[in-house]
Amino acid sequence: MIQEIQLRILPEIAANEQRLKEYLSKENGISLKQLNAVRILKRSIDARQRTVFVNLKVRAYINEMPADDEYIHTTYKKVENAPQVIVVGAGPGGLFAALKLIEEGIKPIIVERGKNVRDRKKDIALISREHIVDPESNYSFGEGGAGAYSDGKLYTRSKKRGNTDKILNVFCQHGASTSILVDTHPHIGTDKLPGVIEKMRNTILECGGEVHFETRMDALIIENNEVKGIETNTGKTLLGPVILATGHSARDVYRWLAANNVDIEAKGIAVGVRLEHPQMLIDQIQYHNKNGRGDYLPAAEYSFVTQVEGRGVYSFCMCPGGFVVPAASGPEQVVVNGMSPSNRGSKWSNSGMVVEIHPEDFPEYAKYGPLALMEFQEELEHQCWMQGGRRQTAPAQRMVDFTKGKLGSSLPDSSYSPGLVSSPLHFWMPQFITKRLSQGFQQFGKFSHGFLTNEATMIGVETRTSSPVRIIRDSESLQHITIKGLFPCGEGAGYAGGIVSAGIDGERCAESAAKYVQAI
Ligand code: FAD
Repeated sequence: MIQEIQLRILPEIAANEQRLKEYLSKENGISLKQLNAVRILKRSIDARQRTVFVNLKVRAYINEMPADDEYIHTTYKKVENAPQVIVVGAGPGGLFAALKLIEEGIKPIIVERGKNVRDRKKDIALISREHIVDPESNYSFGEGGAGAYSDGKLYTRSKKRGNTDKILNVFCQHGASTSILVDTHPHIGTDKLPGVIEKMRNTILECGGEVHFETRMDALIIENNEVKGIETNTGKTLLGPVILATGHSARDVYRWLAANNVDIEAKGIAVGVRLEHPQMLIDQIQYHNKNGRGDYLPAAEYSFVTQVEGRGVYSFCMCPGGFVVPAASGPEQVVVNGMSPSNRGSKWSNSGMVVEIHPEDFPEYAKYGPLALMEFQEELEHQCWMQGGRRQTAPAQRMVDFTKGKLGSSLPDSSYSPGLVSSPLHFWMPQFITKRLSQGFQQFGKFSHGFLTNEATMIGVETRTSSPVRIIRDSESLQHITIKGLFPCGEGAGYAGGIVSAGIDGERCAESAAKYVQAI
């Protein structure tokens, strides 16, 4: 017999299958001898009260054994000789689009400007060590896209749970831990992501798809308002409809679209800083315990949101037990972001702390038309590079000092490996952002005692939160509104924000592109 049971138990019981069995035997009267296995179906932590509980939904196998496969397996077809679709970009949007094309019996030809996920790692190390940013291989560009060297958080605000489950199951099929199917806030971790991404690429190749690394799309070939293919920097021309999944950092792609009168529009983004606290402090606050998280609880997370003068101020992409990373995608820029390993074991916690901005908030950039906020982003990143000493060292300020408009000379220890430079962020960052951030911090400090502290460091600047441009598409066919055979996809097109939602959008674009190519 299999029984599904809802439990609210202490963390030390939830952490161990034997203790769970003993608990079920004692509390639910199940014979320990007959209880062969307990599998967790859902797990969340309830830290609202002084005593922290773990909510579990479990499946108890009584006189039965669990099946081996704990995820839903997707079957992929052989597509070597099938009609082809070009996928530009091998981020989550592009990779999930390619896999879905294969499911649909279409051959994907992936074109990726960066290197494969392993070689890319060496260029990422150079950013911290030598302060060199390769404009084709960095935290944004290369196999796995912006999601490869990240925290690998896999939750989304998407209400379409079925689609999210599909993405998570495909990750499991390619080596991710099945714990991602269970946790309310699943994550893979930057140490595990490259292996998963490699396996996804191998599935694509084994099925007959193609992957071209270090190949940049330089132009779309458009005839009579229909995409016929692409031109690349290697001189290769590839023919077929195009899923354009180039992410929000491919500014050359936006500039090409604008210059060639392909309809795009400016959209709002969020801009601010990375805020880094000692993880111990966050554990103490969130778990209400001066000893921190103890042996059985994960590194604590937080999430804050408020409104200040008509704009949202919120925490973004929190990385418990993580590192702040130099995420510029070109020279003369400083941009920060965050990542964590699977064990979230570092002594720091970090999160974006950002203010929502709309194109009309910065009228001086209106002259750039649809590229207004992209130009704003780029100028702020350049300014940040100058304030940081014209290297990848980042300008930083203690949190309370910032709210008081004061510059302290010393900074706390930080995980940001290129190094920090003490800098008056309150002075040189746009006032539209700093005054809202400052008020937001004061409110967060009131919600959560101890959060507003000079032990926390603000590191500039966090600008790549979402796409500053939307590549406008038809909501039914998912094709560009005026160019047939062009499927703007994922975060760069303005239709996703994060790994899972980019994957979901990739699958949707692939379905539409498959229909399109089958109708030709
Ligand atoms: P991208 O991942 O940006 O991929 C676009 C790809 O296109 C890139 O590989 C790029 O090289 C390629 N490309 C660009 N232009 C061209 C061209 N002209 N020719 C060929 N190829 C091109 N999200 C989460 O959900 N959870 C997290 O924990 C998380 N952490 C993050 C940490 C960091 C450090 C960063 C930078 C981002 C993080 N994100 C996270 C955001 C997430 O990575 C993105 O939302 C997601 O990767 C977007 O997917 P995408 O496929 O649309 O675009």
